[in-house]
Amino acid sequence: MIHTDLLTADKDPMGAAILDFLKHGRADKLHVFSSQFDEDEIPVRTLFRTEKQMNPLERTALQLATGRILDIGAGSGCHSLALQAAGKEVEAIDISPLSVEAMCKRGVKQATQANLFNESFYGSYDTLLMLMNGSGIIGQLENLPAFFRKAKQLLRPGGSILMDSSDLRYLYEDEDGSFVINIADEYYGEVDFQIRYKEIMGDPFDWLYIDFQTLSLYATQNGFEAKLIKEGKHYDYLARLHPKA
Ligand code: SAH
Repeated sequence: MIHTDLLTADKDPMGAAILDFLKHGRADKLHVFSSQFDEDEIPVRTLFRTEKQMNPLERTALQLATGRILDIGAGSGCHSLALQAAGKEVEAIDISPLSVEAMCKRGVKQATQANLFNESFYGSYDTLLMLMNGSGIIGQLENLPAFFRKAKQLLRPGGSILMDSSDLRYLYEDEDGSFVINIADEYYGEVDFQIRYKEIMGDPFDWLYIDFQTLSLYATQNGFEAKLIKEGKHYDYLARLHPKA
């Protein structure tokens, strides 16, 4: 089951940080908690990165995105704005009401508060864009079949998904370079997060990091084909997935 729902402003820490940064040119710390990792921070400025500041995987994805594009989990709208500047047709969605408000203020022409997995969300697109560990919103491996079903409904003939992710196995690497992963455990890329900004604490949510091989396997089982487009510097990669004929 996919539990994601639309956020309300009082449970939208990342959106609040984005809106603060937009209004004041600065923001407080965006704290990230997880039962698997030490407390961390997201530098809010990075959510406003320009095309030049994006990593090569993201820049490649922007170049490959064609036709009518859906920017899924668009955040501050950095990718949508870059695509619009390149003359491409893009629609941005996010479950965060404050992020959508920020995107409208920044000039994203079509920004809607919507949950990808909600039945009431529909449309038809040539490219589904999922960036900044875009596989994350799938949450858990068991949600992959529902994700691929939704993607198939949204894609026009010839269309594809562009998604980046990371293989978290480096976290389990031993000093001698071998990996200690117990395959009886839950998949090592299934992570839980909770975000806080100022006094706004969001609800905990699942986030999926997925290695390319596992993604490719699930894709095949669900009528898609996965291609490895480009590898990044640190176990990260960009994949393209399209429905098999
Ligand atoms: N793509 C942006 C933001 C990444 S953060 C960037 O690269 O900067 C992930 C975003 O996905 C958050 O803004 C979160 O609110 C949104 N999100 C999470 N689950 C979602 C869902 N089911 N449907 C739409 N958006 C979702």
